[in-house]
Amino acid sequence: MAAAREGPHGSVNVPATHRRLDLLDAPAGALEALLAELDPRPYRLQQVRHWLLRRLATGPEEMSDLPKPLRAALAERTVVSQPTVVEEQRAADGTVKVALAYADGAVVEAVAMPGEGRTTLCLSSQTGCAVGCTFCVTGALGAGRNLSGGEIFAQYRTLVRREGLLGSPLNVVFMGMGEPLLNPAGVGAALEFLAETVSPKRITVSTSGILPGLAWLAQLPRRPNLAVSLNATTQAQRAALMPTAARWPMEALLEALRRFPLERGRRITVEYVLIGGINDTLADAARLPRLLAGIPVKVNLIPFNADATYLPHLEAPSEAQVDAFAGVLAAARLNVTVRWSRGREISGACGQLRGRRAPAPAAPGIVRLHGA
Ligand code: SF4
Repeated sequence: MAAAREGPHGSVNVPATHRRLDLLDAPAGALEALLAELDPRPYRLQQVRHWLLRRLATGPEEMSDLPKPLRAALAERTVVSQPTVVEEQRAADGTVKVALAYADGAVVEAVAMPGEGRTTLCLSSQTGCAVGCTFCVTGALGAGRNLSGGEIFAQYRTLVRREGLLGSPLNVVFMGMGEPLLNPAGVGAALEFLAETVSPKRITVSTSGILPGLAWLAQLPRRPNLAVSLNATTQAQRAALMPTAARWPMEALLEALRRFPLERGRRITVEYVLIGGINDTLADAARLPRLLAGIPVKVNLIPFNADATYLPHLEAPSEAQVDAFAGVLAAARLNVTVRWSRGREISGACGQLRGRRAPAPAAPGIVRLHGA
């Protein structure tokens, strides 16, 4: 049922008859072929898709409107891969963060953040990140592998089922571990799965500024919202914080944002992690509106979430400095919001739950954000 795609370790093999077909990571046409063999009625495929993508079934045995013999045959021949929840943290504000282990032992995290009338789910796209932003716990942990569409969707399924959110209004953000635009195959497949239940207007993909990935995102027919992690107001400052800036300079990134196709009323979210004494000066605040001139944006200021273990060299900004910075942007008529990390007592920023489960990095000192 899924489009042909690369799996996390290369191309997905067509399963031999003795192997079970992974229903959300199957090669194109494989489920159709199996159903044609087991029960060729044309509506069976729609029924199975409905259970997988709308009812979030974890296996054929839950597909109660299929005939029992078909359920049994599917259970014998197929599987819906499900990561194991190896840790869970709950914050007083209702934020819940889970660490999920896949079959190969890779662990990622996913977060549910309740809001007014709508819960936001934050998903990971990779098991680590090679980009290496110097403010990011995930970056400090180093490169991982790409997650497949089924693996990403499994994070969504896990959070929705555990938190009883089936049918509830949701936002989905790709702001967890990894750089989504370095994994277009997995993220693209996950977006297709999510499209069954979540409007693209309610989905946001956040990037550190991978220009080829932006071009890929721009041509999607059901484009999600775009968020870009900017975090600096000069090329030198940005390159010091985010190694991607050396390859894709800030000026080229801003030009790509100017050209990015936006539907009426939609804006690009510019994320700016405020790090005490590094990029939180009033001179930075004065430069930012000039850089963003001509781009329909809203700016999210995210005060850095201090992490004494992984990012001991970086400090949170003072609340007074955050207020002053936001005031300069507001005076320049930028749409600005300050977003303190949710669930700060449970290490709300990206990679921090995962980080506690991994050995400390050899060279401490990094920063992050894809929204944290
Ligand atoms: S901020 Fe995003 S792109 Fe940068 S290292 Fe962290 S996960 Fe990777």
